Amino acid sequence: MNLKSNTVTSHVMPTYARVDLAFERGEGAWVTTTTEERYLDFTGGVAVNVLGHAHPRLVAALTEQAGKLWHSSNLFRVTNAEVLADRLCAATFADLVFFCNSGAEALEGTIKTARKHHAVNGHPDKYRIITYEGAFHGRTLATLAAGGNKKYLEGFGPPVEGFDQVAFGDLEATKQAIGPNTCAILIEPIMGEGGVRVVPHAFLRELRALCDQHGLLLLFDEVQSGMGRTGALFAYQQTGVTPDVMAVAKGLGGGFPVGAFLTTAEAGKGMTPGTHGSTFGGNPLATAVGNAVLDVVLEPGFFERVKQTSLLFKQRLAELKDSHLSIIAEIRGEGLLLGIRMNVPNGEMVDALRAEKMLVVAAGDNVVRLLPPLNISDADVGEAIARIDRAAAALEQHQKGATK
Ligand SMILES: *Cc1c(COP(=O)(O)O)cnc(C)c1O
Repeated sequence: MNLKSNTVTSHVMPTYARVDLAFERGEGAWVTTTTEERYLDFTGGVAVNVLGHAHPRLVAALTEQAGKLWHSSNLFRVTNAEVLADRLCAATFADLVFFCNSGAEALEGTIKTARKHHAVNGHPDKYRIITYEGAFHGRTLATLAAGGNKKYLEGFGPPVEGFDQVAFGDLEATKQAIGPNTCAILIEPIMGEGGVRVVPHAFLRELRALCDQHGLLLLFDEVQSGMGRTGALFAYQQTGVTPDVMAVAKGLGGGFPVGAFLTTAEAGKGMTPGTHGSTFGGNPLATAVGNAVLDVVLEPGFFERVKQTSLLFKQRLAELKDSHLSIIAEIRGEGLLLGIRMNVPNGEMVDALRAEKMLVVAAGDNVVRLLPPLNISDADVGEAIARIDRAAAALEQHQKGATK
């Protein structure tokens, strides 16, 4: 079958319902379109641009590395990757880091690590992983099975075996789901795509206890919540609960594609030479930028500032909720991973904000996500509040018109 079409209007595969905007450049929290319109960008490239657009330190790190060496493969040592791995381990629970290129790959590696751990312990039969409804772990076949979203799985053949999904926050169901073949529990400490749902710390503590009691590994997906987004380098550090393996990506490269999974030596002991690989993973360009991101976010006072900004932002959002009760249902989230649950369809708020020249992302549970750069100024937060206020007022006008 070779039926090349001459009626395709765009040759980019139409898997996204894209907004008809294209950007020419960005600076901090602002982006400028190819037609010279300026937008306040609270999508952050979907939680990726932790330091906004065109941060001078990241630009310098990338361009400096670009003049020296782009790629050498993992057949050889990669100095930037070694440094980044050392720094990530010094800052976390982990002993070992594997670099890849995306969040889904980081989760694939996390899943493989958990299964292999039990296999080398003499239990290859322990391969099943408990996951939660509403989770999002990526779009590869295994991560789709882990996420369990029927809409995303539909039509792609039998889902990858070995995932047992239970209701969000349901401890009893979690206990029931643990069987002789269970190897791990996988959870996002804050569900991003699922609607900025913060998992109660007490629930995470219960999961840690269950894992310890049953010899399971606790796997955290911090692809969205990591890299300072919640006001700590990783969200788990504010929960009092430590995972055995953790997936990271999005903010790690501040916009340059890079992912990683981090593990203790014990949990990762099955990942020996030949067990896993990636051609591009952790290449000199990606890890040069990763190191530059860490340079900035680990500066003294950076996370304090994220927390202060978050407090200011949440207070002002709460005021907006009180003045637009028919539009805004709830403010949720931690740090600068914030969500507005809507009383009208969330897509209407996304559109109303775009009309106010502000960009945001929809999430599950009828939520609009706010993902500003972590180094955003108070003035830009003020600008966002003004635009959300005007968008909510426009939606109220629309509501009144509809009921007349
Ligand atoms: C975005 C995301 C992923 C998938 O990352 P990709 O880079 O798109 O593969 C996985 N888990 C979480 C929590 C995410 O937010």
